Amino acid sequence: MQKISVRSALSADQVGNQVKLEGWVRTRRDSKAGFSFIELNDGSCMGNIQVVADGNLANYESEVKKLSPGCSVRVLGEIVASQGKGQTTEVQASEVHVYGWADVETYPLQKKRHTMEKLREWAHLRTRTNTFGAVFRVRNCVSRSIHNFFQERGFLYVHTPIITASDCEGAGEMFKVTTLDLEAPPKADGKVDYTQDFFERPSFLTVSGQLEGEIFATSLGNVYTFGPTFRAENSNTSRHLAEFWMVEPEMAFVDLEGNMQVAEDFIKRIISDVLNDCGEDLQFFNDRIDDTVLSTLTSMADSEFLRVSYTDAIDILLKSGQKFDYMVEWGTDLQSEHERFLTEVHFKRPVILHDYPRSIKPFYMRCNEDGKTVRAMDVLAPKVGEIIGGSQREERLDVLEQRMQEQGLNPADYWWYLELRKYGTIPHSGFGLGLERILQFITGMGNIRDVIPFPRTPGSAEF
Ligand code: ATP
Ligand code: MG
Ligand code: MG
Ligand code: MG
Repeated sequence: MQKISVRSALSADQVGNQVKLEGWVRTRRDSKAGFSFIELNDGSCMGNIQVVADGNLANYESEVKKLSPGCSVRVLGEIVASQGKGQTTEVQASEVHVYGWADVETYPLQKKRHTMEKLREWAHLRTRTNTFGAVFRVRNCVSRSIHNFFQERGFLYVHTPIITASDCEGAGEMFKVTTLDLEAPPKADGKVDYTQDFFERPSFLTVSGQLEGEIFATSLGNVYTFGPTFRAENSNTSRHLAEFWMVEPEMAFVDLEGNMQVAEDFIKRIISDVLNDCGEDLQFFNDRIDDTVLSTLTSMADSEFLRVSYTDAIDILLKSGQKFDYMVEWGTDLQSEHERFLTEVHFKRPVILHDYPRSIKPFYMRCNEDGKTVRAMDVLAPKVGEIIGGSQREERLDVLEQRMQEQGLNPADYWWYLELRKYGTIPHSGFGLGLERILQFITGMGNIRDVIPFPRTPGSAEF
C-alpha cells in the first residue's frame, strides 16, 4: 500500500485509493454506534485527517479505544469522501497499528492550550503543536526562498567560518572559543580552566560573515552566505538571540542605491513565496496570533518601501510629540521603539533608513563626503523594527585605515582585509538579514524565541 502524507490524504483526488498513513493521534471520539473517529496529524500540514475505525477491527476494544493524544500509529485503509463538515476526505481504516502509547496522565499536549513560555520548556514536544508546526514549515519556506532568490540571480553561495579572529561589528558581543587543556594541573579551587586560547590568538564565534564574504565578492562577484551567527547579547529582549541565522549577500560593483534595491526585491520575493506556498499556515497565524498578518503581507508585496535619510527620520521623531523611553537626537542610534513608531505610526509601512552618523556605525562603512555620515542602510518593518542592516563598504585604503584607528582597532590585525583595497579595490556593498526577524514579521509571533527550534538566550540551558 502506498504511503502518503496527511497533506495528500486531504485532497479529493485521493478518493478510492488504498493508502498507508503514519502519524500522531490528536484526538479520539467514540460513537455510540460502535466505531471511533481518530484525528491524525503527521506534521505535513496544519490539518488532521479523520480516520474512521470500525468496531470490527481486531484490536478495536483492546487498542483503538485506548488511543489518546500523542500516541503514534500506522493506519491502512481507503480514502473516502467525508460526510463531515469542513473536510473533503477521510480514511476508512482496515488496520490500525499502534507504534507507541502516550500516557494520558503525563503527556503534556492535551486539549488545554499552553502559553508560549510553557511550550518553550518543551522544545522537544512543542513541534507537535499546530503553532510550531506552522512556524517551522514557514521557516523552511523562507530558507528555500532565500536560496532561490540568490541562485536565480547567479550569486555564489559561500561558507564563511564560524570560528574567527575578528569582531566585524566592533560591538564586543563575542563568544570566546577556548580549549580545555587536559594535561594542565587542576586549578587550586578544583574548577576547570577554560581560559586557554584556541590557535595562537584569541578566537571567537562569528558575529557576521561579512568581512570574509568580501574576500569572495572582490574576486568572484556576487556572493551570499547563510548560516548560524552568534552574539553575546547581554539583554533579554523579544528580538535578540545569542544564536541566530543570518543571510549576508555581498555584491561587487554595487553602491548603496543598488544595495537598497536588492534588499527590497529580496524581502518582497520572500513574502510572495510564503503567500503562495504557506497560505494555510499564514491563515492560522492571522486567526490565532495576529490578525494583521495577512493584510500586512499582501499590501507589502506590491507597495514600494520608502527611503528616508537618518537625518529626516530624526526630524520626524523630534517633531512627533511622542514620548519615548529613550529620547533621540542627531547622532544617537535608534531603538526599536523609534523604528516601530516610524513604520507603524508615521509611515505605516516598511522604510529603508540610510546615511547614518559615522560615529555610531562600524569601521567598514563607506564615508560620505560630508565627513559626518556613512553609506549605511537599515530596513525597518512594522512590529519588529530592524530586519536588515547593510552598507556600501569603504573601498579606499587610506580612509579605511584612518577609520580603524578612530575606532581603536589595530590595522595590522586586519592586514588581509586591507589588501583587498590595496590590490584592485572596487566599490561593493552588502547587507545582513536576520532570518528570525523576518520570521517574526511574517508570522506575527511576538517573541523571537518562538521562531527558532532551540532558542539560545541568557539562562536557556535545557537544550
Ligand atoms: P539590533 O539593532 O536589532 O541589535 P544590529 O544593528 O545589532 O541589530 P546588525 O549587526 O545590523 O544588527 O545585523 C544584521 C541583522 O541581523 C539585523 O538587522 C537583524 O535582522 C539580525 N540580528 C542582529 N542581532 C541579532 C540577534 N541578537 N538576534 C537575532 N537577529 C539579530
Ligand atoms: Mg545589536
Ligand atoms: Mg541596529
Ligand atoms: Mg544593524
